[in-house]
Amino acid sequence: MRVLITGGAGFIGSHLCDALLADGHQVACVDNLLTGSTRNISHLEREPRFEFCQIDINQPYDVGPVDFIFQLASPASPVDYMEHGIETLQVGSLGSFHSLELARKYRAKYLLASTSECYGDPLEHPQKESYWGHVNPIGPRSVYDESKRFAEATTAAYRRYHKVDTRIVRIFNTYGPRLQLNDGRVISNFMKQALRGDPLTVYGDGSQTRSFCYVSDEVDGLLRLARSDVHDPVNIGNPGEFTILECAHLVQKVTGSKSTIAYQPLPQDDPRQRRPDITRARTLLGWEPKIDLEAGLKLSMEYFQQAIALEAEQSVGAGRSGG
Ligand code: UDP
Repeated sequence: MRVLITGGAGFIGSHLCDALLADGHQVACVDNLLTGSTRNISHLEREPRFEFCQIDINQPYDVGPVDFIFQLASPASPVDYMEHGIETLQVGSLGSFHSLELARKYRAKYLLASTSECYGDPLEHPQKESYWGHVNPIGPRSVYDESKRFAEATTAAYRRYHKVDTRIVRIFNTYGPRLQLNDGRVISNFMKQALRGDPLTVYGDGSQTRSFCYVSDEVDGLLRLARSDVHDPVNIGNPGEFTILECAHLVQKVTGSKSTIAYQPLPQDDPRQRRPDITRARTLLGWEPKIDLEAGLKLSMEYFQQAIALEAEQSVGAGRSGG
């Protein structure tokens, strides 16, 4: 199969490229590199079944016949999507239309990467796919939440009106190697801070919860959904739920860091709790995450150490050339 991955140079996208190539497919990776990076796919440079196209899918585009489209393109960390709010709204709307038109043209199957943010600051706990969510439509997070909700509506409409063979995954917080060091997410911040010996910045009192899925488990879920005939949304996330303070303590433990905790204000509309109900993924896809948070943090440590070293090298280099 020839598979198109939009956002293929991003964190999850690049792992998906690896997994699909390992399965023997041809992979066309499309990314505008707004938040993705060629560093994530540089190891694939000499792979003949892999091609990278720097394309902005907010414009109509065509990469030739494809059998399957994974629509992953979007800024995804709160810091990134708040900085690039308009682009985030555009990629969920214009980008979705352009990719769905491509799926229609080539009769390709289509999988939309949606998000637990569709549930907003949820009043139901844990979150089942049947929950419609509790989203502030004009708040700072709305550029992402409503973009993804619109993308879901567009995907469902192309299925209904144009018979495109679609799937929708709702991805919960995911982490692991290739998470950008400076994307402001909790795991990247805590790992960076702990490994540097800086204080861990806990927002609010740290009692808000998240459920963290290791990237290999997430990709396994995406592939199972892609191979299935399940058209309703499916949560793919690890149901292990942690307060942010527990998460900070776990990072301190895994890294052996003596870093202290520094409390900072809670951002506006920060969801109080988040945990996927994965009954649907379990029963329909036979999917279950295998790697718990402590094991996943250990698996991620080497990557974060290297990313910190690389950044230090680059800042020394920049200092030299600047000075
Ligand atoms: N958070 C934190 N310290 C940080 C970064 C994030 O306490 O340095 C909190 C944030 O307020 C939120 C949770 O960690 O409650 C997860 O934030 P993240 O940005 O990773 O993603 P979100 O789940 O909010 O999209």
